[in-house]
Amino acid sequence: MSLEIRNLLKTFGGVPALERIDLAVGASDFVCLLGPSGCGKTTLLRIVAGLLAADSGSIVLNGRDLSAVPARERGFGIVFQSYSLFPQMTVAQNVGYGLHIRNTASATAARRVAELLDVVRLSEFANRYPGQLSGGQQQRVAIARALAVDPAVLLLDEPLSALDAKVRAELRTELRAVQRSLGIPTLMVTHDQEEAMMLADRVVCMNRGRIEQVGTPQQLYDTPHTRFVANFMGHSNLLPATWLRGAAPQLLQAAGRSIADGEEACVRPERIGLQVQSGADATVTDISFLGNVKRVGVAWRNRQLLAEVPARMPVTVGDQVNVNIDPHDCAWVAA
Ligand code: ATP
Repeated sequence: MSLEIRNLLKTFGGVPALERIDLAVGASDFVCLLGPSGCGKTTLLRIVAGLLAADSGSIVLNGRDLSAVPARERGFGIVFQSYSLFPQMTVAQNVGYGLHIRNTASATAARRVAELLDVVRLSEFANRYPGQLSGGQQQRVAIARALAVDPAVLLLDEPLSALDAKVRAELRTELRAVQRSLGIPTLMVTHDQEEAMMLADRVVCMNRGRIEQVGTPQQLYDTPHTRFVANFMGHSNLLPATWLRGAAPQLLQAAGRSIADGEEACVRPERIGLQVQSGADATVTDISFLGNVKRVGVAWRNRQLLAEVPARMPVTVGDQVNVNIDPHDCAWVAA
């Protein structure tokens, strides 16, 4: 099973919403489309689903171009942010809906519905109505409903974002487990970097209608290619090459190639080492406690850095500190 998005272009009223989008989702692959509001994530998902037509480009499933195939015939399972369940149907009827309209034999359908309710841990709610369920339970029903018809691909549009933090975290774990156990190719839209990192095999970082970078969560975190990706994937310290020439030329020398003026070194806060020492050339400006770690603001050679250190490290505002950066921890990004 493989899904390919080829050279997709979409404009609204002459304004590009998606430009030159190429992406492949392989069997069992969990791919997250990640980016800020308005970057085109939902538009891309809707085009894949067949709910919206592209201006050009194609969606190809197992070698077959789906351009002329309407949404309901694509065999995709779709889950939206709003649970969009049928309020007048029970949980079991909602989950079995796709099977019903495909005229699946009722004993087979009942068995499949029972299996899926078990997978999403809602067996005892089979005869309730959506209005009698919590948000998290309703979204589990929506996921079971999408899976009931053995979809070729699972498409998820911010399925967890309407839920509170605790339920979201639980459902995230369940969603990943279900997807793994069924091995179904999945494309999910999210603007939540942490969610993408936790769920995805590969993250597609989007910005203004284009793909900035595709990679595993760790690749995007450790080696962002652009300033946008560096900033979007968690906190980062961006140190311009022009500033490093005066402040820390050893980092430039260690890069092993010549660094252009427009480039910046991206260093994650936990990769910055601090050592309290009177007379050192950096000063602690602020500290916030996050449980297992402390975030420490440091003024160093006319620049403000953010470091993350173990919570128990004795350091206070006003301390003088040495700043240690291992050149191997620098990813070079184009500004
Ligand atoms: P969000 O996270 O806020 O949902 P998104 O990344 O999913 O954002 P899209 O909804 O795909 O973004 O929108 C991409 C761009 O296309 C935006 O600039 C949006 O205003 C525009 N757009 C989307 N749908 C339409 C439409 N039907 N008509 C005109 N412009 C649209």
